[in-house]
Amino acid sequence: MVTKKRSTSLDTNLALRQAQDNASPSTSDLRALFNGRVIVPEDPRYESARTVFYGGIDRRPAAIVRVADAGDVSRLVSLAREHGFELAVRSGGHSGAGHSTSEGGIVLDLSAMKDLQINIEERTAWAETGLTAGEFTAAAGTHGFAIGFGDTGSVGIGGITLGGGIGYLVRKYGLTIDDLLAAEIVTADGQLLHVDTNSYPDLFWAIRGGGGNFGVATRFQFRLHEVDLVVGGMLILPATPDVIAGFIAEAEAAPDELSTIANVMTAPPMPFLSEEVHGKPIVMAMLVYAGNAEAGDSVIAPFRALATPLADMVKPMRYPEIYQPEEDEYHPVAAARTMFVDTIDRSVAETILDHLKGSTGSMAVAQLRALGGAMARVPADATAFAHRKSRIMVNLAALYERPDEKPIHEAWVTDFAAALRQGDEGAYVNFLGDEGEAQVRAAYPGPTWERLAAIKARYDPTNLFRLNQNISPASDDI
Ligand SMILES: Cc1cc2nc3c(=O)[nH]c(=O)nc-3n(C[C@H](O)[C@H](O)[C@H](O)COP(=O)(O)OP(=O)(O)OC[C@H]3O[C@@H](n4cnc5c(N)ncnc54)[C@H](O)[C@@H]3O)c2cc1C
Repeated sequence: MVTKKRSTSLDTNLALRQAQDNASPSTSDLRALFNGRVIVPEDPRYESARTVFYGGIDRRPAAIVRVADAGDVSRLVSLAREHGFELAVRSGGHSGAGHSTSEGGIVLDLSAMKDLQINIEERTAWAETGLTAGEFTAAAGTHGFAIGFGDTGSVGIGGITLGGGIGYLVRKYGLTIDDLLAAEIVTADGQLLHVDTNSYPDLFWAIRGGGGNFGVATRFQFRLHEVDLVVGGMLILPATPDVIAGFIAEAEAAPDELSTIANVMTAPPMPFLSEEVHGKPIVMAMLVYAGNAEAGDSVIAPFRALATPLADMVKPMRYPEIYQPEEDEYHPVAAARTMFVDTIDRSVAETILDHLKGSTGSMAVAQLRALGGAMARVPADATAFAHRKSRIMVNLAALYERPDEKPIHEAWVTDFAAALRQGDEGAYVNFLGDEGEAQVRAAYPGPTWERLAAIKARYDPTNLFRLNQNISPASDDI
């Protein structure tokens, strides 16, 4: 946490009034307002501060405010509202659509807000939203606790939680939002609200899946689970239609303790793969069995029996070890699509392998996640994440280097998604890029959209929070 001395409320009010009187507040006006750091283009830290996870997103905000506390958040939201600044909200900076930065606007960067209070007796935690999934998991893991986020440690708990959260514990404990007990949210009017099932229940429903549309979440309260030793890690198999279809069949039939992520792709030149495998189709899978080692081994045995593994790193481990170290300088450029399907049989697996062969990207992948379990036992209308009955999530991506190649890879991924489309028309909001309103509506089908739009009208009628998978406020609050 940043521990700079807070301005007195008198100073703050004066500075705020001065800032509001000016058409565009100066850097010193801004610095007087906030306890956190204000980074402007002249600042040596500006280049790294404006960089987000994905490459090819090259926007230059007028200022990045590394807020230090909820008061800073409230002041910045008020300033943006009064001055009409475009406001980008950033937790971990992993938005595929580039929503957590802005050309000429202001970035509200939560990355300095990393306080975490774990209540061991109650098995709950209050976490500030600048924490990443990896940071939270490492800290909770020291007490033998965990909740599920996603597959990547550097993803911010802000973005992943507000969109749902599908990770290594999804079948055992559900989505990240299924462990969300309460949140503190600064709404468009600058107020800090405590929301839970009793207090602002409409807002609490909406933020569990509705993304950043309703305000800035400063803290989340989570229920914690006892998850210490698991059986987990990477299993690499040769990718044939039978192996792919067999993998998904086993993953769907497995007990809820097991969650899997299967990446069908061409083998990169990884040191632990023999050279003759490089460039061949593989299933690079991550498995987590959240239970005891003996049972885990027998549940994982059928996966190992699908073919002779090319690499097998599945072993008993402490849950936080599932998040591998990452390179700060890795900024991939990707064309991606997300969808749900009902089945990956042999013929779907053949379609996957055929399309992967056709990509000219530096890497092409079809990521398959068998869902179900605890996630599917929550009613579809209990939260704003409506895809509880979707069976398998598919994320398709081509990574590429040169921006002028974008149309080629976009066309490839569009065709690929069309070839895989089955009955389920839904989409998972957290994996959407900048794909237009139809896809946002696919993430929030029918009544979910109507309900979200009405709540949006109540809490953000002018659509101040619009740099997100946007839900426009309903014209009549119903
Ligand atoms: C490499 C990678 C792996 C991923 N793996 C998974 C996975 O396994 N499972 C999964 O479910 N998702 C996964 N995702 C998707 C991820 O959940 C979303 O991209 C998510 O939005 C990222 O959150 P962030 O805080 O890092 O991103 P940011 O870019 O900081 O935020 C994204 C958006 O969320 C909103 N937001 C963020 N924080 C707040 C806040 N505190 N208050 C209000 N609004 C906020 C804003 O609208 C912002 O534009 C992955 C993404 C990447 C890039």
